[in-house]
Amino acid sequence: MTEASRVVHVAIPSPLARHFDYLLADNLAVPVSGARVRVPFGQRETIGMVLAVDAKTDLPREKLKHVRAVLDAEPILPPVLMELLAWAAAYYHYPIGEVLATALPVLLRRGLPATASGERCYALTREGVGLPPDTFKRSPAQRRLHQALSEHPQGLTAIALAEVVENWREPMKRLAARGFVCITEQPCLPIKPAGQHIAPTPSSAQNQAAEAINAAAGKFECLLLHGVTGSGKTEVYLCAIEDVIARGGQVLVLVPEIGLTPQLMQRFEGRLSAPVAVMHSALNDSERLCAWQTARTGDAAVVIGTRSAVFTPMPRLALVVIDEEHDSSFKQQDGFRYHARDVAIKRARLENIPVLLGSATPALESLYNAEQGRYRLVSLPDRAGGAAPPRVILHDLKRLKLNEGLSPPLVEALRERLARKEQSLLFLNRRGFAPVLMCHDCGWLAPCQRCDAHLTLHRRSRKLRCHHCGAEAPMPEKCPNCQGGNLHGIGEGTERIETVLARLFPTARIERIDRDSTRRKGALEEKLRRVHAGEADILVGTQMLAKGHDFPDLTLVGVLNADQGLYSADFRSEEKLVQQLVQVAGRAGRAEKPGEVLIQTFHPDNPAFAALMHHDYREFARYALAERAAAQYPPFAHLALLRAESPKPDAALGFLRRAHRHAADIGVPDTVHLMDPVASPMERRAGRYRAQLLVQASERRALHEFLHRWLAQLEGEKSGRQVRWSLDVDPVDLY
Ligand code: ADP
Ligand code: ZN
Ligand code: ZN
Repeated sequence: MTEASRVVHVAIPSPLARHFDYLLADNLAVPVSGARVRVPFGQRETIGMVLAVDAKTDLPREKLKHVRAVLDAEPILPPVLMELLAWAAAYYHYPIGEVLATALPVLLRRGLPATASGERCYALTREGVGLPPDTFKRSPAQRRLHQALSEHPQGLTAIALAEVVENWREPMKRLAARGFVCITEQPCLPIKPAGQHIAPTPSSAQNQAAEAINAAAGKFECLLLHGVTGSGKTEVYLCAIEDVIARGGQVLVLVPEIGLTPQLMQRFEGRLSAPVAVMHSALNDSERLCAWQTARTGDAAVVIGTRSAVFTPMPRLALVVIDEEHDSSFKQQDGFRYHARDVAIKRARLENIPVLLGSATPALESLYNAEQGRYRLVSLPDRAGGAAPPRVILHDLKRLKLNEGLSPPLVEALRERLARKEQSLLFLNRRGFAPVLMCHDCGWLAPCQRCDAHLTLHRRSRKLRCHHCGAEAPMPEKCPNCQGGNLHGIGEGTERIETVLARLFPTARIERIDRDSTRRKGALEEKLRRVHAGEADILVGTQMLAKGHDFPDLTLVGVLNADQGLYSADFRSEEKLVQQLVQVAGRAGRAEKPGEVLIQTFHPDNPAFAALMHHDYREFARYALAERAAAQYPPFAHLALLRAESPKPDAALGFLRRAHRHAADIGVPDTVHLMDPVASPMERRAGRYRAQLLVQASERRALHEFLHRWLAQLEGEKSGRQVRWSLDVDPVDLY
């Protein structure tokens, strides 16, 4: 090709849903699709990904600028991932440049070489060894780091240092500047597991499940592993993963946001015979690049990661496992709103490999797909090792008097567990002390200034906090309305329950686990360690406690406010509630000791509880799916949600009304139905007024074709510039 004929189509992170064309000078190597280039963009230079190189462009050539540099000789994303990302951009109607950027580690987005340098390692220099004791008189942080490095002459990495001093980077810089510390880079190596833990003998149900997964090797198939809590699903994953590794393949394991507990990691590392790379949000940029590289080179046989790990290049990928597939953290809630489970299924299809979805409480969509024969259903109906399912008892709050959130029978049950030296767990999906602060003289309720919501009282830190926008205010001494001093927290949060328990059981060791109590790095790990070591008697916590933990000495689970989530505006809230209850109930009686679950509710007759009592999630699913069918909600219809928000009261709704009119102008297919724009259930949040327009369709293809034309119109809509708007395909949260 001559210079004049070469046009490079480049995807650039930008809100524009198209690619950009550049010319390629003769002295530059012709880049391949999936390689990065540096290009001029507006007033600056940026990094883009090459989509294709050919001779055509829709623009006048003289308008095109030149590629400045080609950064990769090989594609850094293989063709199958480029195809997957192009599909995702089209499916979620999100700009291809942004989608590609999401898939890359930050350092690669910034143009660093894809031959990653390794993880940084900090060690004492000769000058740094054996310093006089008063060297760090005025800097305890430097002293602690120096101490740790003295104990580890071979050096420490970022993760280890963060355990020593939380904000270690600044003091470390000073140590380096004083010549006491040198920084080296270790080659990227995945964690080499010890692999000496012994697997239990699999049950026949586990064997059957592993065989079904094996039988699917080498072709696309979606398997849904529905196993009750504690049925040994993780054991099945481990067996299937070992089989793939033995055949020389790689496995991608996706877990929910907070599912990546040290316990799970230890289990994987202890059992697998091949190197594991871990990808989660706590990694810094170079650690992330490191993990990504070991996956891409094939050095890591297994990648375990949260949502975005679904885009990791793995040349020998042979199986994808999605643990807790129903978990909503697989759906990204802003920007590129992809669902990692759905993207993973698409990826498995493109790679022609099996994908395994596992859960004790599968998403209704997934069960429906299994029912329709699209997924193969594999069940583990019983708990592993002969453990019995927990006994579930409903406490009707219409008949019981509560003492600060606890019913007398629940208090009695806690007392019994303490006497027997067994652990109990109280589940309450509300952190803080009390959800509302009220004046008992005039009825004033502390409002958030920026949201249509009340402030939560956090008594220990003497603060009022908004759980929607993060706003914070000191706890008032007097009522701002009537100047009275009669202010009280109404209702219960985890902090209050913790206080009540401490008063009722002064000698009990209580461990509160919620976002507030685990903010500090390492705090959750430490709390879980104490629970496992038997150094805690009662656990109080939010949904953080519901997932994946295996507490062998825990025999009582109390659910304090089960009714939150019943009768809500969101059609998914009941499904979420039941999933949460089944999961948290599953923490009780996992080993030899039988468990009991006490649920406090005003609505004991609600069918949501029946499934729990009968240990029959499928029973709930049948009834809930029938309701969905009647209301034409997913999986019986497809949804897209157009959201808008603005600091001006009517701007968002105004934009959506215009959007509605545009739709009528361009023609809405028969199988697609637009609802009227409405204010969001909590209209004002963080000072912005929010509104939404729901699109419901019985045919996916027609929906996407319509969305495509509609978005083109909306991009030109003037009132759209005054609001922030976005489209959410397959929304998980309807507000
Ligand atoms: P799940 O992932 O379904 O919650 P796990 O795989 O964590 O279940 O298993 C629950 C517990 O049962 C774990 O302590 C595990 O070691 C044990 N377990 C699993 N399979 C077996 C088996 N076949 N025999 C005995 N114990 C088992
Ligand atoms: Zn008052
Ligand atoms: Zn707020």
